[in-house]
Amino acid sequence: MATYPTKRLRRLRYNPLIRDMIRETELSKNDLIYPLFVMPGENVKNEVASMPGVFQFSIDNLVKECKGVASLGIPAVILFGIPEHKDERGSEAYSQQGIIQRSIKAIKAEVKDLLVITDVCLCEYTSHGHCGILKGEEILNDETVELLSKEALTHAQAGADIIAPSDMMDGRVAAIRKTLDENDFEKIPIMSYAAKYASGYYGPFRDAAESTPAFGDRKSHQMDISNALEALREIETDIEEGADIVMVKPAGPYLDIIRRVKDKFGMPTAAYQVSGEYAMIKAAGKNGWIDEERVMIESLTAIKRAGADMFLTYFAKDVAKWISARG
Ligand SMILES: [Zn+2]
Repeated sequence: MATYPTKRLRRLRYNPLIRDMIRETELSKNDLIYPLFVMPGENVKNEVASMPGVFQFSIDNLVKECKGVASLGIPAVILFGIPEHKDERGSEAYSQQGIIQRSIKAIKAEVKDLLVITDVCLCEYTSHGHCGILKGEEILNDETVELLSKEALTHAQAGADIIAPSDMMDGRVAAIRKTLDENDFEKIPIMSYAAKYASGYYGPFRDAAESTPAFGDRKSHQMDISNALEALREIETDIEEGADIVMVKPAGPYLDIIRRVKDKFGMPTAAYQVSGEYAMIKAAGKNGWIDEERVMIESLTAIKRAGADMFLTYFAKDVAKWISARG
């Protein structure tokens, strides 16, 4: 075995052109999915206090934002809706006139070359803020899955390109696949939030989506942060049920899960760099405690290096600009 002084790993680092040549992982605009929040009203653009640079938009401004996103070369957005009215069964989630259904139509009418992915869950639409139908304080699985299927179908009917169930109910991917197929949407892919952890990193999102549960937490359906093998079982189940893309959420603190999922299944794998990951980088950057741009790029490069093929990130526009600036 050749070793020092014959073997010198620094030889490939001394020149920036050599470093560029041997780089293993590079961010691409094709990796980017930009999350957007839409709410009722006109000409609304409310910045989310805990997520600087992230806004709640009314549909008119959402369409404008989507044009900007597409012009940066970002291929996809994912939509989260804040409804006019919330009720116990989250009715606006699966109404043809719901905020997301109207948003999809408005975007599709005006923006070309942009994939519209829709998040499917009930928590933004229920008066109690839980992801499903309640019996007492328990979330009923199968009754919820029925409504999620209806929600997914209305999204597809409105023109959604990819359906992304985030609820973590058992059997939802199979049910949604069946409903889509029975209604001639067999070509619409499902990106499942397959390993979604009950994470403290979601805090700022709940401000943005106005979906904090009125009592309790999400630990009866989202995964225990301590478990990795269970994540693999969740992913395997969703693949068997028909998921086309599987997602790990959060991303940065769960790089081990992303790597194991990629190695074991070799599926198109998405990772969600969640609101808390974003907020921490933003806050430290604003305080001058870290170099925000550098850490943004490093965090996403690490997520890609771990095995993610694409990421949902609130930094998508900044990353796209960074890539463009580098030519
Ligand atoms: Zn939910």
